[in-house]
Amino acid sequence: MSSPRIGIIGAGPAGLTLARLLQINGIPCFIFDLEQDRYARDQGGCLDLHEGAAQRALRECGLYDQFLAVARTEGEVLKIYEPNGTILLDEGSGYGERRPDSFNGRPEVDRQQLKDMLIDSLAPGTLKYGHKLFAVKTSVGGTSQKYDLHFEHSVEIGFDLVVGADGAWSKVRHLLTDQRPVYSGINGVDAKLCSIDNVDLALSRRVGQGMCLTLGSNTTVLSQRNGDGCVRSYGFMRLPEDWQTTCGIDWSSHETAKKEFIEKYYDGFNDDAKNLILLADEMAPRPMYMLPLGHRWAHRQGLTLIGDAAHLMTPFAGVGVNVAMEDALSLGLKLKQWKREVWDQSPEQGVSTIIQPTSAYEQEMFARAEAYGKETWMYLNLFFHEKGGRPMLEHFAKAKEQEREQAQKQVEEQTKKLVKTEALTQEEEPCLTQVTLVESKEEAIAQ
Ligand SMILES: Cc1cc2nc3c(=O)[nH]c(=O)nc-3n(C[C@H](O)[C@H](O)[C@H](O)COP(=O)(O)OP(=O)(O)OC[C@H]3O[C@@H](n4cnc5c(N)ncnc54)[C@H](O)[C@@H]3O)c2cc1C
Repeated sequence: MSSPRIGIIGAGPAGLTLARLLQINGIPCFIFDLEQDRYARDQGGCLDLHEGAAQRALRECGLYDQFLAVARTEGEVLKIYEPNGTILLDEGSGYGERRPDSFNGRPEVDRQQLKDMLIDSLAPGTLKYGHKLFAVKTSVGGTSQKYDLHFEHSVEIGFDLVVGADGAWSKVRHLLTDQRPVYSGINGVDAKLCSIDNVDLALSRRVGQGMCLTLGSNTTVLSQRNGDGCVRSYGFMRLPEDWQTTCGIDWSSHETAKKEFIEKYYDGFNDDAKNLILLADEMAPRPMYMLPLGHRWAHRQGLTLIGDAAHLMTPFAGVGVNVAMEDALSLGLKLKQWKREVWDQSPEQGVSTIIQPTSAYEQEMFARAEAYGKETWMYLNLFFHEKGGRPMLEHFAKAKEQEREQAQKQVEEQTKKLVKTEALTQEEEPCLTQVTLVESKEEAIAQ
């Protein structure tokens, strides 16, 4: 049976999840990525996969058990310190009030492990590395709307659907909107300290098994333990976009840059917080970008975006990969239904009907991404607060109170329902007796 020709640009979590979903549902596709192979680049820190989002996508991909085998539930805990070392929250040891229950069920997984799991699940030949996309162009000739993919060294032609899963600086996005990512106001460095247990065991214990935040006035050290024994720390703060070139730090020397960065911005932070960056093996500047909240575009047949390409967010609510994999799930399931109910039934209608699943996906995604975007913006302002970490704790306490009130309301509603059902049952009993009586009378007359 014929199939539409589908090309996915980008082998990140979004593109790989979509490719897997399409393949297990009998829809062939190709996925192209600019990297030379899966290990070409350090994949960065680990990701927490949420139950209702990324985990649901992995279930649908048939990879849930593989995910459980590598998921680190112990990594779900959070610590918050003040710059002077005062501890405000330690979920591992039970100090302070835990975050709301909505934070449960979010085990950590290393990015490389997540990617490996998805890549290994694809049919051989699906994923084509070494394909850096320069442009998507409308195919010349032919009767239906098709697209050609222009890569650095080659051209692949005749795609009915091109899905841009090519991240923050998506090239596919250029065909749908002029909007480019905007600077979020947060800048700083990304520092990786390898084998922390061998370097400084006390520092390793300070970080704990999950996330460890040191929150000063608009200035932070955000650390996270990875499954491979490294700790990734982000020295982030509110800075101008051009900070990297105007700050006067000599980035050419790794050791000097670390010292200059810490001396310049971390006055009042204790040695533990500073050492998470000073002892790092690698460090690089990293400005944070985002697409504007509520960004959307008019649908165009045969083209769509998923993941960061569609709705780049800063990482402060920890939802980016979850929204990305939810996009893949939503689009994948809609394409599956369309293929079965429309394409397979009357292929002569052609691929023009692909507008149905793709535009339906976009409408659903726009609303979801906007909600996640707002949550992310709220957390950005809690991470970078002039009063340091305390407003974040106040936020958690408020959210927990709302959860308690919600739970109390549910109990009250259920109790009300129970009482109503009991009252109804008691009212119904005499009726039953009457019915029995009438039946007895009729029986008596009949007799
Ligand atoms: C510092 C940091 C920490 C984060 N922490 C979290 C977290 O804890 N939890 C969470 O949920 N999210 C987190 N995120 C966000 C998360 O990483 C992203 O939302 C997620 O990776 C998006 O997946 P994606 O597949 O859409 O894009 P990406 O992961 O960016 O993948 C895009 C792919 O496209 C390829 N590509 C790009 N351009 C081209 C081209 N021209 N041609 C061909 N291929 C191309 C790239 O090589 C890449 O493989 C974090 C992000 C950052 C920056």
